[in-house]
Amino acid sequence: MVWLASHDASAYPNDPAPRVRSALESATIEWSEAFTAQDRRYPAPRVMLTRHPRHHPERAAGYYRGLAVAIDLGEIEDIEALFPRESETLTALVVAHEVAHHVQFLNIRDGRPAASSAPAHELEADCAAGWWLGRANARHLATTGAARFSTEGLERQLPRLFQALYTLHHRRLDAPPRVMTRLHGADGERIAAVQRGLEAADPALCGAGVAP
Ligand SMILES: [Zn+2]
Repeated sequence: MVWLASHDASAYPNDPAPRVRSALESATIEWSEAFTAQDRRYPAPRVMLTRHPRHHPERAAGYYRGLAVAIDLGEIEDIEALFPRESETLTALVVAHEVAHHVQFLNIRDGRPAASSAPAHELEADCAAGWWLGRANARHLATTGAARFSTEGLERQLPRLFQALYTLHHRRLDAPPRVMTRLHGADGERIAAVQRGLEAADPALCGAGVAP
């Protein structure tokens, strides 16, 4: 894994970078195994850690196609402050969603089928993030030292996470406008996608775009 940006960890006593790193390493393990089972090689994404001030237009997790997964540590700290009990899993899901976009990129690059629309592309990434979560927890049960991410109360906390991210990005407390749900899928669809992934043995069940 290549880290594109380093930052002064000592300036942030509760630095979330190690938790982001642990989620990324776990995602690399699971995707590598899934790709290897299909005789493919999985090149892990490069990672860019940023720290933009609140409400900065670029302050959000994202995937720069073919270049890097970008994680904003300030945003992760906000998630940890808002969801102290579930922050580990919610942070990992944010990371895993962007990693799933990397898998979609690899498939498009290799001439494989892609999702048919923007919301389908996003829901596929949500589902693949759920798949990774299930895999990581199965590995935790089988392997000492492997990371575990609690899924308790996830159904209740995911809508709050989506709303919190929207409010942090747009300074608005109202529900996201339709234009956003058209892009990402409505909350209910997103939660269903994560749950579907959690129960899927194979990420291909989430859609051809994330098939290893
Ligand atoms: Zn996305």
